[in-house]
Amino acid sequence: MSDCVFCKIIKGEIPSSKVFEDENVYAFLDINPASKGHLLIVPKKHSESLDELGEQEFSSLFAAIRKIARALLESLDNTGFNLLMNSGKDAGQIIPHVHFHIIPRKKKDGLSISSWPFLKFSGDHLQEIAKSISEHIRD
Ligand code: AMP
Repeated sequence: MSDCVFCKIIKGEIPSSKVFEDENVYAFLDINPASKGHLLIVPKKHSESLDELGEQEFSSLFAAIRKIARALLESLDNTGFNLLMNSGKDAGQIIPHVHFHIIPRKKKDGLSISSWPFLKFSGDHLQEIAKSISEHIRD
């Protein structure tokens, strides 16, 4: 898409700190990182949601995530990472081009990315929720 920031980065029209590139995937440092080495992994094909990606793009994306996550652990002084995706405006997606964030973590780094309320549902309610999701699973 011509006005997509990430498409422009992939084409080299906007500068980026590139970490990895292959036929289907481009990865670069986030311009407003949550921690040192915070990066974004994006499919080269412009897609707003995961559902628009083909099998090959999807598997390339996850192969790249695995390689890059390993490299992050080996190269910087982090001891873990969060892999996250904001999908949809209500989930905080700002750039409408599929991307995963990898955020390097270390002990007592003060980030609270993975703090959510631990809600309690009854066993029956959990079964109901699981059923309603599983009934919609399709290829
Ligand atoms: P979100 O869509 O909320 O998952 O996040 C989009 C991310 O893209 C944010 O963390 C931004 O800091 C990052 N971002 C936006 N523009 C650029 C850019 N030109 N270079 C690198 N990162 C960017």
